[in-house]
Amino acid sequence: MKKIRVRYAPSPTGHLHIGGARTALFNYLYAKHHNGDFIFRLEDTDIERNIENGEASQLDNLSWLGIIPDESPLNPKEQYAPYRQTERLAIYNAIKEQLIQEGHAYECYCTPEELQAERERQEALGLAPMYNRELISEDEKLARKNSGMKPSIRLKVPENKVYEFKDLIRGDVKFESKDIGDWVIVKSNGIPTYNFAVVVDDHSMDITHVFRGEEHISNTPKQLMLYEMLGWDKPEFAHMTLIVNEERKKLSKRDETIMQFISQYKDEGYIPEAMFNFLALLGWSPEVEEEIFTHEKLIEIFDAERLSKSPSMFDKNKLKWINNRYMKELSEDKYLKLVKPFLVEYYDCSNKSENWLNLLLLLYKEQISYGKEIQGLVDIFFNDEIKYNENCVEVLNWETTPQVKENFKKQVVTSESWDEETIKNCVKAVQKETGIKGKQLFMAIRVMVSGSEHGPDLTQTLLLLGKETVLNRLGE
Ligand code: GLU
Repeated sequence: MKKIRVRYAPSPTGHLHIGGARTALFNYLYAKHHNGDFIFRLEDTDIERNIENGEASQLDNLSWLGIIPDESPLNPKEQYAPYRQTERLAIYNAIKEQLIQEGHAYECYCTPEELQAERERQEALGLAPMYNRELISEDEKLARKNSGMKPSIRLKVPENKVYEFKDLIRGDVKFESKDIGDWVIVKSNGIPTYNFAVVVDDHSMDITHVFRGEEHISNTPKQLMLYEMLGWDKPEFAHMTLIVNEERKKLSKRDETIMQFISQYKDEGYIPEAMFNFLALLGWSPEVEEEIFTHEKLIEIFDAERLSKSPSMFDKNKLKWINNRYMKELSEDKYLKLVKPFLVEYYDCSNKSENWLNLLLLLYKEQISYGKEIQGLVDIFFNDEIKYNENCVEVLNWETTPQVKENFKKQVVTSESWDEETIKNCVKAVQKETGIKGKQLFMAIRVMVSGSEHGPDLTQTLLLLGKETVLNRLGE
């Protein structure tokens, strides 16, 4: 059997987007599941739109996710190189010449203005705009050619043909050639168009499977006609459904409700393995109900048959939940390394010891979902003032609370040290002396010192707040 070879082919016009990352991930999982190769190549012909470091940024972000290409511009295989379209122009040119010679392609001398006017004319007649082969006369073409005008090259779309393929996700897909006008394969500046270059690349790089976004489905018939004209075997296609936001709208780079780029998740202290896990569930589901899988496990169980046929929703809370699961599993060292920078960047930690900072962070290890979440989460340890929400006011107004307050204050004042043991004894003494216990006791103390009904371990919280702060919060 042929070795499976798949590719992710971004344009370096931006950083790695959620959609791109998912496309790369599914290609990668498919390749690795079948012991195949995952290739990274660049569609960089739109030079004006390319951003500086676009390629490196894409590769770095993929690598952060744990997606390492078997081949890329930085790791080329001689027989397939180069991996950047701008370095492959001679290859496209040779195929273009072949297509012209075989009568499948021709020079087009129409100007953009003429094409636009023709489109408007057709639209006014209620027709679907399509290239008109008779837009300018043969004499005019010749005259323009002789004057040195650079033509674009168009593919001569065959008449009355049906292009069909079996999409791995959608099943049978059919397009008719009558709906497709002669399309440009090489622009007048000599740069190939996407639909042409991608076929040449996929063929010459022995790509066996193409997993890509559904926006490319209508491009597929154009690509199929090239495979046919050139007598090349076509790869298998799988067009993945859209990723939508919580309002079921297509994820777009302008959508501000969701962070769009992988680097933003990295910058906010998400865990790459969690992100990998989350992205794998964005349009794919395993047979089992479990949703937490290691990288290796996902490779093992990935089955393209289970790619979703309906749009997949980007659920921020699910991502947080998954990240929290990974956070809990991190070693203490790794956890501290991930979260501490967010703490010290946000709070004034200058008078806190390293040990205190570590203990504080570890206190939140079970509940925190991502690094930056620490910012705002531990205000009570840094701010003198605390705010009480409505529910807290209710707790403060319990009949028993003043008694808890007075007695606890007395225990704290008279305590000689401030360690776990002492704190536990103080609370126990309140219970013994007042007879107040359970929620009436513990929640009252928690609310008085933290302004919140919920939080991590009470003894640890009191310990880290310190005796002085606790007394201040218990008030006069
Ligand atoms: N550069 C194209 C994209 O990012 C690649 C399309 C394809 O995979 O064929 O959408």
